[in-house]
Amino acid sequence: MLIKKTNHDELFARGIGIKAGFGIKTVLALSLLFCLLLVPSLIIPNLWAEEERPPIYFKFIGNEAFRFSDGKMTLFSDFPYQSGAYGYMEYEYDFAAEKGPVVSLITHRHLDHFDPERFIELEWKIIGPKEVTERHSRLKVIPLKPEINFANLKITPRVTDHSNTEHLSYLVEWWGKKFYFTGDANEADSLKDLPELDILFISPRFYHSAQKANMLPKAGKVIIYHHETGEIVPGCKGCIIPEQGEEFIVK
Ligand SMILES: [Zn+2]
Repeated sequence: MLIKKTNHDELFARGIGIKAGFGIKTVLALSLLFCLLLVPSLIIPNLWAEEERPPIYFKFIGNEAFRFSDGKMTLFSDFPYQSGAYGYMEYEYDFAAEKGPVVSLITHRHLDHFDPERFIELEWKIIGPKEVTERHSRLKVIPLKPEINFANLKITPRVTDHSNTEHLSYLVEWWGKKFYFTGDANEADSLKDLPELDILFISPRFYHSAQKANMLPKAGKVIIYHHETGEIVPGCKGCIIPEQGEEFIVK
């Protein structure tokens, strides 16, 4: 029962800690216990995995902003942004109601993706390019690395191009699900070598150019973002074009 509440990372972290601090007998006994706990997970990975993975709920706020939650923590893509910036989508949000650990995953500094003034007032963590994070408290910034591990999130940033900004696209792996956020990137090459995704988040413009270049990654679902309200995306069969406030669940 205990192992179902414990994830791989915690187990490995404990294994390393034990070697450093205990006698050899304790190490052997605990290593044996570790193996006994690990073996069933290898034999029946699906059974274990299914029970351990909570569903992920998410909701479209506007532009490229979604709120994701696994019930333990909250992840936002490109939020908080400045409502109505450059004529894009407006929104209202009850920031005070947002409790618990929150991470903002920001692609670039443009105000329709990130509002630094608003962010300063929030006790949230942030992942983003340097020109987005440098003016914020070090305590709030999760440092950029080729692979960022935070709680149960694994985030792999990709440096991508967007009109003279430092721009990052992100592969996010959470509870075995893989999401890719293109942001405002628009170069088909940046989609190279992605794993098979559960959800691809992509703008209408990039969807078209990537489709034309035959570079769209395999994805269980394509969700269009940074669209206009009511926009139709021709050729995007089975795509979801979310409305503001629309909610989803991934199991
Ligand atoms: Zn934008």
